[in-house]
Amino acid sequence: KGFQVAIDGPASAGKSTVAKLVAQKFGYIYCDTGAMYRAVTLAALQQKIDLNDQVKVAAIAENLPLRFETGDPQQVWLGDQNVTQLIRTNEVAQNVSTVAAIPAVRQAMVKMQREIASQNNIVMDGRDIGTTVLPQAPVKIFMVASAHERARRRYLDNQARGIATQSIEELQKAIELRDQKDSTRKVSPLVQAADAIRLDTTALTIDEVVNEIIKKVKD
Ligand code: C5P
Repeated sequence: KGFQVAIDGPASAGKSTVAKLVAQKFGYIYCDTGAMYRAVTLAALQQKIDLNDQVKVAAIAENLPLRFETGDPQQVWLGDQNVTQLIRTNEVAQNVSTVAAIPAVRQAMVKMQREIASQNNIVMDGRDIGTTVLPQAPVKIFMVASAHERARRRYLDNQARGIATQSIEELQKAIELRDQKDSTRKVSPLVQAADAIRLDTTALTIDEVVNEIIKKVKD
């Protein structure tokens, strides 16, 4: 039973960057739950499964040979395939909200997430951590930023990763579409937990956001 920091918010709000730094600061584990939904999506795409076939996609989620490996960046494995880069493609980004809306997929992911959290002090980021996965987390943050700023950050991030990137405008459209789907699905939609602290990071530096959260953890 570890200490839990839950960080939620829309796409590209800077959650993972900040979550990693907070985890590092306290020697906690970092759990990227978005990577888990992306891995399910990638596996389904690789197996050429119809993403609307909820039974088949759920079976993939329930038997996912997923492994995180410490490193900078953290490496994600599906069986013996390193999928760290593959889960970040446009194809996965465009399809992940469909997969994440399947109730049985969410059930399987939430179970894994709670198991990880029960064994470690943890910083976990996603969409439903404060509302559903770890509703008892003593620190809950809801990170937001303007859609344009989020697209700009994603653009710079793609460039830094050496990924062929869409324009900022195209990225903004894709981000808004994904937020829309994530916010309107029936099961644990993207919504701020009543007891979460809202942090608008549009005009803040990474350090400022990290320090804000560190203060809350120490309180
Ligand atoms: O955080 P990231 O952008 O990698 O998340 C990818 C997608 O995974 C989200 O757009 C959402 O559809 C889904 N997701 C989710 N619940 C989480 C984390 C991610 O539904 N806790």
